[in-house]
Amino acid sequence: MINQSLKQLSQMLASKEVSSVEMTQTFLDRIKQYNPDINAYITLDEDKSLAQAKAADGILAAGTATPLTGIPMAQKDIFCAKDWRTTCGSKMLETFIAPYDANVITQFNHAGAVNLGKTNMDEFAMGSSNETSYFGCVNNPWDLTRVPGGSSGGSAAAVAGRLCAAATGTDTGGSIRQPASLCGFTGLKPTYGLVSRYGMIAFASSLDQAGPMAKSAEDCALMMNVMAGFDERDSTSLNHPKEDYTSKLNQPLTGLKVGLPKEYFAEGLDTDVAKVIDNAIAEYKKLGAEFVDISLPNAGLSIPVYYVLAPAEASTNLSRYDGVRYGHRAAEYDDLMDMYMKSRAEGFGDEVKRRILIGTYVLSAGYYDAYYLKAQKIRHLIADDFKAAYKKCDIIMGPTVPSTAFKTGEKTDDPVAMYLQDIYTIATNLAGLPGMSIPAGFSKSSDGKDLPVGLQIIGSYFDEARMLNVGHAYQQVTDWHTAMPEGFA
Ligand code: GLN
Repeated sequence: MINQSLKQLSQMLASKEVSSVEMTQTFLDRIKQYNPDINAYITLDEDKSLAQAKAADGILAAGTATPLTGIPMAQKDIFCAKDWRTTCGSKMLETFIAPYDANVITQFNHAGAVNLGKTNMDEFAMGSSNETSYFGCVNNPWDLTRVPGGSSGGSAAAVAGRLCAAATGTDTGGSIRQPASLCGFTGLKPTYGLVSRYGMIAFASSLDQAGPMAKSAEDCALMMNVMAGFDERDSTSLNHPKEDYTSKLNQPLTGLKVGLPKEYFAEGLDTDVAKVIDNAIAEYKKLGAEFVDISLPNAGLSIPVYYVLAPAEASTNLSRYDGVRYGHRAAEYDDLMDMYMKSRAEGFGDEVKRRILIGTYVLSAGYYDAYYLKAQKIRHLIADDFKAAYKKCDIIMGPTVPSTAFKTGEKTDDPVAMYLQDIYTIATNLAGLPGMSIPAGFSKSSDGKDLPVGLQIIGSYFDEARMLNVGHAYQQVTDWHTAMPEGFA
């Protein structure tokens, strides 16, 4: 059951081959067995999950089920879920019980999906390895001594280890796609504004976007049908008409023009990763796609631009954690100012503090023009690069990450090396474009482990259905997306 697609699981439920309670119990049992090794889930509540499953069985029996009714899913702990502990990976929110549901949670609840639990993540979604979580590292199921990527590392390991049927994540600079590449599954960051951010704990509001993390493009399409949609409670939600993301899955790729940005194949790309991407390109040629060379001349500036803008937004978003309105409050303090300072000093981890310091600095009166304003201008140039590129092609392809999963601890002392994990993903967020990563093969580590490699597919605005079609076509002729890590079968 654990390696079945969402469609197959849904058919099993519809045909009464298995009930949602049984399916949920199967995943809960796997979580009990494997979670101690990978630390993917940080909050579980079997009673709540099973109650949802029981309700789903009622809907199935009544004949009013929709495709995700009764499907057990993992939710990144960045989404507020009513009566569930919602920590965002931080000590600051260690005991916070959400009083309401995020829009994403509401949509899955309406669809009758089952919440298996809340998944581990980098603190406030800041990180590329899940090592900044207050709740400890997550281990990559493909090699437990390596990171799963981040910030959606718990959801990533849960999908890869088959500890859920599918999961949610968020992507501010790469946090769905980078872990998808490192853990070997399909992840989609939608067009900015397509999925509501209501109830999703804010990191960098102009970049944050929620999306599906699942085995296949088809699974992601089914999840997008539930997640996407206008929400007046999010001021940046776009009033884009509802789409059926499964409707174009089977279109032929003949004549599809794919752009290969030369900047994504330059120095710094691991040779094994490059080989896997070349093979994927060859496969796409067989499917009828045509390739053209393109350039994104300002792509090289995306990391510095992001590390001005994202910390700037984070520093204001995180000012609400003052020990009064939300979260941790120091036990002992002298006066109000001391209480603020001690609460924040104790509640936030090092990476979060680093971002708050950078953000406060670039927004300060003397430096605003030199850093923040300049970065905003370059952000526009980066978006313009894509606009120009899409005059020559329908879709863009390249590697998702320059290398495979690295060892836990390998980059913790070098924030810049960590930031470079997102060198191919961040420009998409800055431009607000949709990006996806699909499993495209493996690279052998020096100690003989198979480590997954992801192919990135970048679409134009609202082109998710086409991207999913492109992913699905490849997954019909390859089976990388069905591979399971040894020991988790
Ligand atoms: N790795 C990037 C960062 O640390 C992106 C994180 C994300 O997408 N949430 O900010």
